[in-house]
Amino acid sequence: SVLSERLAAGLRDIPDYPSPGILFKDITPLLADPELFAASVDALAAAHRAGTGAEVDVVAGVEARGFIFGAAVALSLGVGFVPIRKKGKLPHTTVSAEYTLEYGTAIIEVHEDAVHPGQRVLLLDDVLATGGTAEAAAGLLEGIGAHVVSVSFLVELAFLNGRERLSGRDVKAVLSY
Ligand code: 5GP
Repeated sequence: SVLSERLAAGLRDIPDYPSPGILFKDITPLLADPELFAASVDALAAAHRAGTGAEVDVVAGVEARGFIFGAAVALSLGVGFVPIRKKGKLPHTTVSAEYTLEYGTAIIEVHEDAVHPGQRVLLLDDVLATGGTAEAAAGLLEGIGAHVVSVSFLVELAFLNGRERLSGRDVKAVLSY
């Protein structure tokens, strides 16, 4: 579509970042363009507006690029925002999840009282790659009682099959490669 082509023009491929053989999708040109940034936030929020039947009580995002889109989408939908952070960054009592990266593991955390039981949550991140981060984040939210209505991304790297790790959940992406 015209929208997809416009948004895709705001991404650039960076070869061999952060390690050799990885082709990294850099979203910073899109963020720097006010029309593209607004259009991407609108595209992420659209499925959850009032009257869609997929309304949410809160948006959650994973540090760091998930904060950029998550906060903007939360404001656009008129709901609050819940940060999911790397280990050691959140001040109150947390629950944590360890997950596998290409090399080694990482730990993410959320405040144990970040959502009320049964609250409807939209989980957002910029890019779905292997799905490890989103799977861990969705599990954390569900572990504190959230109903994860959707896991949404600006970009899905479909050839990495990240969706398979999020099976049983509604997964959406604005752009897919
Ligand atoms: P996964 O856990 O799905 O393998 O990796 C997803 C996480 O790494 C996301 O938090 C995302 O921000 C980051 N990530 C992985 N690959 C890319 C990429 O090509 N571009 C960007 N912008 N982020 C990426």
